[in-house]
Amino acid sequence: MNQTVVAKFGGTSVADADAMSRCAAILEQNPDTRLAVLSASSGVTNLLVALASGNHGPAEREQMLQQLTAIEQGILDSLQRPEMLTRHIEDILNHIRELADSAAISPTKALSDEIVAQGEMMSTKLFVELLRSRGTDAVWFDVRKVMRTDDRFSRATPDLVTLKAEVEKELKPLCDKQLVVTQGFIGAAPDGRTTTLGRGGSDFSAALLTEALNASAVQIWTDVPGIYTTDPRLVSEARAIPEISFSEASEMATFGAKVLHPATLQPAVRCQIPVFVGSSRAPEEGGTWIRNSTPSQPLFRALALRRNQVLLTLTSQSMFQAHGFLAEVFGILAKHKISVDLITTSEISVSLTLDAGAELLTEEVKTELGRHCHLKVEDGLALVALIGNRMSESGGTASRVFQAIGDVNIRMICYGASPHNFCFLVEEDKATQVIADLHKELLPA
Ligand code: ADP
Ligand code: ASP
Ligand code: MG
Repeated sequence: MNQTVVAKFGGTSVADADAMSRCAAILEQNPDTRLAVLSASSGVTNLLVALASGNHGPAEREQMLQQLTAIEQGILDSLQRPEMLTRHIEDILNHIRELADSAAISPTKALSDEIVAQGEMMSTKLFVELLRSRGTDAVWFDVRKVMRTDDRFSRATPDLVTLKAEVEKELKPLCDKQLVVTQGFIGAAPDGRTTTLGRGGSDFSAALLTEALNASAVQIWTDVPGIYTTDPRLVSEARAIPEISFSEASEMATFGAKVLHPATLQPAVRCQIPVFVGSSRAPEEGGTWIRNSTPSQPLFRALALRRNQVLLTLTSQSMFQAHGFLAEVFGILAKHKISVDLITTSEISVSLTLDAGAELLTEEVKTELGRHCHLKVEDGLALVALIGNRMSESGGTASRVFQAIGDVNIRMICYGASPHNFCFLVEEDKATQVIADLHKELLPA
C-alpha cells in the first residue's frame, strides 16, 4: 500500500465554481491526494437522464438544454481563462442536443449512457481548468480507458482484472507525477461504448480506483459532515458518527443511506482501505471514518430507509413438503438479472422484495413465474433498517423496536441473518414517522 489518497467529490460539491474552489482547497491541503474522482454538477445527471428518456417533446428538451447550459456556463464564466474551454463545452452541449434528438426518436440504454456520461465529462474538464487557474497543476484523465465494464448499460459491472491492469499501465504513472482528475460513474463496454455504473455510482468508482491503485485511503466528500445516525433530512436530531465498521456502514448503504452507493465498501473491505466521509462545504468539521473494526460497538447505531419497495408474494400448493420450488423461482429471477433482496417463507408461499423496484418485474417475468405459482405484487412500501451490533444475540431488541413504532403495521420482517441488521417493511406514508419514533427511542442524543 502506498501513501496515495483518492478523493471523490459528489454533485453538490462540484455544483458551481465556489463549490469547486472548496474542493480544490481540500486537494491542495494534502499533497498525497493524487486522484480526484468527480460526479457531474448537481442537477446535471437528472437533466441528462430526462433528455435521454425520449419522453419529452422538442420544447421541453430545449428548456432542459438551457438549464444544462446555464449550469455549465455559470462555472465556465467564473474561470480565469474561460476561452480555454468555451469551445469544448459548447461542443459537448451540441453533442448532447444531437443525441437527445436521436433518443426522442429511438431511446436505448446505450444511447442514454452516452448522454448521461457527458455530465461527468464536463465537470472534470471545468475542474481541471479551475485547479490550473489556482496554480495547481492537474491533468485530466478519461476513466473509460481503465474502467472497463460489461455491456449492461445503465447498471454495468466493472471488470476488476482489466481495471487493475489498465490502472497500473495508464493511471498510476500519471498519479505518481501529479494530481489527476477523472470521472466517477462512467465506464466503457468491451466494444468501447460508454456505460454507467448506476445512479450514485461515483462513490463506487472512487473505491474501485483506490483499490486498483493500492492507495491508502479514499475520501468521499459530500454535503454532510459524515454518516449520520439517520438521514438528517428525515430527523433533525440525527448526528454524525465519528467511526463506524465496514459491516455496519455496508448495511446502511445497502438499506438506503444515500450518502454511500451500496457497492462502495466492497473494494474497501477487500483491501482493508479506510473510507472517510466528510463535507466539502465544512471540511474542518471532520467526518466519519469507516474501518474494519471500531472500539465502540453499540447495540443500536443507525437507521436507514429505502422507499419504493416492491413485495412479491408467490404461492403454490405444490410447494408443501416439496423441494425445488424456490430453486425454480430464483432461477427465473436470476435469468432476468433480478436480484432478490429480503425473503421470508411460509408452508406454501414465499415473499420477497426486489432491490430495483417494479420496472424489472416485466410482463415476461410475471408470465414465467405465473407458470409455477400464483403471484401477488404489492407496492407503496418502504423498508426500515435498524443497524447495530449483536442485535440478534441481545434479549429485548425486538420488543424495544415494536414498542417504539406503536400500532404501525409491519408487512414483513427480516431479522437474524446478520447481527448488524433488523429490517421490516411498512406502508410508505408511515415510514418517516417510524424512523423519527425509532430514532427518538433507540438513538437518543
Ligand atoms: P453526493 O452528491 O455528494 O454523492 P448524495 O446526495 O448522494 O451526495 O448523498 C448525500 C446525502 O445522503 C445527504 O445530503 C443526506 O440527505 C443523505 N443521507 C441519507 N442517509 C444518510 C446518513 N445516514 N448520513 C448522512 N447522510 C445521509
Ligand atoms: N452523477 C451520477 C448521479 O447523479 C453519479 C453520482 O453522482 O455518483 O447519479
Ligand atoms: Mg451520492
